[in-house]
Amino acid sequence: MQVKEEIAIIGAGIAGLSAAYELDKLIQAANLPYKICLYESKAEIGGNIKTTYLEDTLVELGPEAFITQNNKILDLIEELGLSSDLISMNPNHRRTFIYHQGKLKPLPDGFRLFAPTNFTSFYSSSLFSFKAKLRVLADLFLTPVPAEIDQSVADYVKRRFGQEVYDKVAEPMISSIYGGNVNKLSANFVLKLFRHQELKHGSVVRGLWKTAKSGIKESGPRYGLFMTLKYGLSSLCKALVKNLPTNSIQCNKSVNQITPCQNGYTIEFTDNSKVAVAGIICATPAYATSTMIKSWNPQLANKLNQIEYSSVIMINLIFDKLSIGRDITGFGYVVPSLEEKFLKACSFSSCKFPDRTASDKIWLRAFICGDIAKANLHKSEQDLLAQAQNELSEILDLKANPISGNVIKYPDSMPQYQVGHSKLIESINNDLNNYPNIKLCGNAYNGVGIPDCVANGTQSSQELIKVLNTAKLKC
Ligand SMILES: Cc1cc2nc3c(=O)[nH]c(=O)nc-3n(C[C@H](O)[C@H](O)[C@H](O)COP(=O)(O)OP(=O)(O)OC[C@H]3O[C@@H](n4cnc5c(N)ncnc54)[C@H](O)[C@@H]3O)c2cc1C
Repeated sequence: MQVKEEIAIIGAGIAGLSAAYELDKLIQAANLPYKICLYESKAEIGGNIKTTYLEDTLVELGPEAFITQNNKILDLIEELGLSSDLISMNPNHRRTFIYHQGKLKPLPDGFRLFAPTNFTSFYSSSLFSFKAKLRVLADLFLTPVPAEIDQSVADYVKRRFGQEVYDKVAEPMISSIYGGNVNKLSANFVLKLFRHQELKHGSVVRGLWKTAKSGIKESGPRYGLFMTLKYGLSSLCKALVKNLPTNSIQCNKSVNQITPCQNGYTIEFTDNSKVAVAGIICATPAYATSTMIKSWNPQLANKLNQIEYSSVIMINLIFDKLSIGRDITGFGYVVPSLEEKFLKACSFSSCKFPDRTASDKIWLRAFICGDIAKANLHKSEQDLLAQAQNELSEILDLKANPISGNVIKYPDSMPQYQVGHSKLIESINNDLNNYPNIKLCGNAYNGVGIPDCVANGTQSSQELIKVLNTAKLKC
């Protein structure tokens, strides 16, 4: 088969779409002799990002907002002409609740994920015992663990802040972000900011105090930094597609195998068709990429397969406002594992985004995560809705059935950055140095958030074009 000057992107999630968009920009700007083709195994683009309507409410089936710390995503949104669609989360009710022994208790003001930075509100909270309040002070005096030593998020938080802060705050908050097991996650990777503060200032809290710039009073994550798009996150994916050359995306096209060939790679699809390409960006989950490459590079395939994934089930529910007995002004609640509940978290999305829901309605997003999600993936939508509703009835004092609801299952969707993840990525990158015209991007490697995926998709394209141009110059 003759090698054509095609560059393939595999996987049309946000990472693959961002990679394709950047690639096309670079090709157009320098008038390079490449065409791009984005191959997606499913019928639709967007990967985890899916926006739809339930009743009259615009609901997200997957992610609902993104953090704006990384400016790349804001630059991209501006380039795509979507800046006027950016919306923030309601500034009036920025608080998170923790489910504790049948009650929803507010997380005190000033928590940065699991680290209390406002001791006045922390010490007056009824969520923590006196012993836990004293134990937190240890963070101010403990010697930092050297940077090169990785430990689990669980061990790290317990050592610095004590068992109770771990059980009630760190475990539910972090496992609802990663949808997995905090006992296995890498502190060096997942808690980079906290590790940095600890190493620089000798204490996480002291570091956070010193670097605190914002005077906004809020609890849990820094909600002020989160934004979304008025017409849903799918509008970002659609805008990326609109800016690609026509016919550059093929859906329902699943890649089976990638093998090196003269001047590039051959891609074989599950429908037995083949294409020869000059370069590839794999924007697929690590286990999918592993399967594609295992026949020619079992060593790299094996490393990619070591990145484990957890599953999530997301349930959207719309209620009449009058049917909820509890005051739910806040952004939602998380549930510690010790409470042994079915739902890990529930977002009060109509409070986060009041303009999306009619004023007499409530929109809730409930999450089933990790092992519980895995064990329930086989259940019908009806059963999952009923089980979620049952639990929500008890916690939120529901007096009526939902008006509408939907369930979406995300099997093996959330990569677990386990202890040693940085070393594993380093080793994968070392192997990839031998194959410079294949790049990997997506949530498996350097961050699960949408901005991380946009950033690493964009970077993959820049690196690939550099490699292909250098190769051309040498010819
Ligand atoms: C329920 C949920 C809620 C979330 N909430 C948030 C949030 O609020 N904010 C946030 O920032 N992040 C959130 N995330 C994380 C974020 O959505 C994801 O990390 C991100 O969307 C992943 O993008 P991706 O492009 O790396 O992968 P994906 O979206 O998984 O895309 C990979 C694509 O590759 C395709 N593919 C796989 N195998 C093949 C093959 N063999 N051939 C061709 N194509 C293939 C898949 O079909 C898929 O479309 C959430 C995730 C989930 C699951």
